[in-house]
Amino acid sequence: MAHPLEALLVLQEKDRKIAKLQREIRDIPARKADIEKQLEGAKTKLNQSREALKKVTSDLKQLEIEAGTHNEKIIKYKQQQMEAKTNDQYRAFLQEIAAAEKHISALEDREIVLMEHIESAKKIIAEREAELKEEEGGVSDEQAMLEERLSEVQEDLDALLADRGRITSNVNPSLLLKYERLFKNKGDFAVVQVEKDHCSGCHMKLPPQVTNDALNPDKLVICNFCGRMLINIR
Ligand SMILES: [Zn+2]
Repeated sequence: MAHPLEALLVLQEKDRKIAKLQREIRDIPARKADIEKQLEGAKTKLNQSREALKKVTSDLKQLEIEAGTHNEKIIKYKQQQMEAKTNDQYRAFLQEIAAAEKHISALEDREIVLMEHIESAKKIIAEREAELKEEEGGVSDEQAMLEERLSEVQEDLDALLADRGRITSNVNPSLLLKYERLFKNKGDFAVVQVEKDHCSGCHMKLPPQVTNDALNPDKLVICNFCGRMLINIR
């Protein structure tokens, strides 16, 4: 007569696979979220560089407007200069014009710097657009892979659950209940083998009586140390 725990050993192997697949299914949404978050990071970086370009472009426009104002003044001063009645007046306009030209020259220096900033901002945007595009490609590949994996896992899980149903139909219900509680509680094994007089669950040395009883199909033997069910198959 076969030991009743032998069927539980087979069941346990299925249950361990089932638990592993269920964990994988549970983790998939988090993995998907991680992938999407990565994409969000790339989008944020691109938006930041676009904002930076907008800012520097508007700063440049502001400088051009200022320079325009000084230019208009110069035109006005030149007209007034021609109508000057005295040498003093003439010289005063000359000074005003020189001052406005100095302003314009300073503005132009700043414009050159901003134009360089615009060039580098455009370069950064192009780089980040390329990065985002690559990232999007990678993300959709990864998402597709996860979807594929999910359906594979689901399929395997369904098959295992069907196997499990077939096995449990031949197990004594109260023994099955004990096993299920223990399996859940331990998280790894409920039924373990005696190996060289040791419990293979907790690795403690077992008394000879326990080792012996674990051979007997009529006895349900529990490890004194870890509480797992013991089976001794020689
Ligand atoms: Zn033990």
